[in-house]
Amino acid sequence: MTTVGILGGGQLARMMALSAAPLGLRFLVMDTVADACAGQFAPLIVGDWRDEAALSEFASKVDVVTFDFENVPAESAQWLAERVPVFPSPRALAVAQDRLAEKTLFCELGIPVPPFAAVDSREGLEQAVATIGTPCILKTRRLGYDGKGQFRLRSDADIGAAWDALGAQAPKVGLILEGFVAFERELSVVAVRGRDGEFRPWSLTENWHVDGVLSASLAPARVEPELQAAAFRHARQLAKALDYVGVFALELFCRNGELLANELAPRVHNSGHWSIEGAETSQFQNHLRAVLGLPLGDTRNLGHACMLNWIGEMPDAGAVLGEAGGHWHDYGKSPRAGRKVGHATLRSDSQAELADALVRVGAALGREAQVAPVVERLRGR
Ligand code: ATP
Ligand code: MG
Ligand code: MG
Repeated sequence: MTTVGILGGGQLARMMALSAAPLGLRFLVMDTVADACAGQFAPLIVGDWRDEAALSEFASKVDVVTFDFENVPAESAQWLAERVPVFPSPRALAVAQDRLAEKTLFCELGIPVPPFAAVDSREGLEQAVATIGTPCILKTRRLGYDGKGQFRLRSDADIGAAWDALGAQAPKVGLILEGFVAFERELSVVAVRGRDGEFRPWSLTENWHVDGVLSASLAPARVEPELQAAAFRHARQLAKALDYVGVFALELFCRNGELLANELAPRVHNSGHWSIEGAETSQFQNHLRAVLGLPLGDTRNLGHACMLNWIGEMPDAGAVLGEAGGHWHDYGKSPRAGRKVGHATLRSDSQAELADALVRVGAALGREAQVAPVVERLRGR
């Protein structure tokens, strides 16, 4: 029996284990904390990412390694790769861990990006703001997630506050300044690439964020076919350049009908959770098929799906479970402000039915504001 090792034991590892259990796989998860939620379904090794004894035990017990957490030190991934197959490769991981390396690669491939500049000092920040202009966003190059490690500058007057907020982190994680994009939409391509180079995207997804955290996703996104084709071209090119194996997400802004790449997530992605019920094969199962060199499943969508993230605490499940296409995912985490604790997916055969279901669920849960932009998009206003 094949054992898949997963570095990081959060909800992504948990959903991977749940989705691929029917394939007869076993899982072993490594995390730095003992209450990692994937540990409810798979044995867990607790250890620091640089703890060689823990890594060694992990490597000796698994046939292949993958990630639920993109910030595992690239050196630890490399150490493992010398002992056991690791997918995606430590190189792909290293590029995606650094916003500067990632944006530089996008540029090399001709994928449009917002203006950006590396920042190493307060003077460097002043120069970068002068070049890029305001509004702009200062971000840590490494270790940011869910909008953490970011500071938005509305004008030059915010330079001091931005440096006070993030300057101390510059030596350790590096900083990058990006032009602020007044986008009409945020989109993502979630796609899988097999060991043999076969590439399959799920339908383009539209995403809504609140305070930098994903709130809702709609698939298929309501966009012109040409825009979806361009997004798929960028994703395919990127995956090929990195010789990527597994599922990844390319986050995109759409402004004036043009795409600008934001970032690459080298793993299954929150904006692909809808694929569990909304596609022929989910991102989780296809990720494991890719990592194991198995044939990839069809990524075609089954009607229209909307995923709603539950942040902080779980609402009552009844309203979602009462819908014909309602699906509930409780990650088994304790409630905490800002924490992703679960999600729901509503699936319907038509956009009109999906909009109606979202209105009912939004009203029942007091989440009208969360569903409103999705309903508006579905109703085409
Ligand atoms: P994730 O959880 O997706 O990994 P992250 O912490 O890596 O998040 P980003 O994806 O860079 O952060 O930013 C989070 C959100 O903030 C984006 O989805 C977008 O809504 C907004 N944002 C980030 N960069 C820009 C930008 N340059 N212009 C406009 N909005 C932006
Ligand atoms: Mg990110
Ligand atoms: Mg992001």
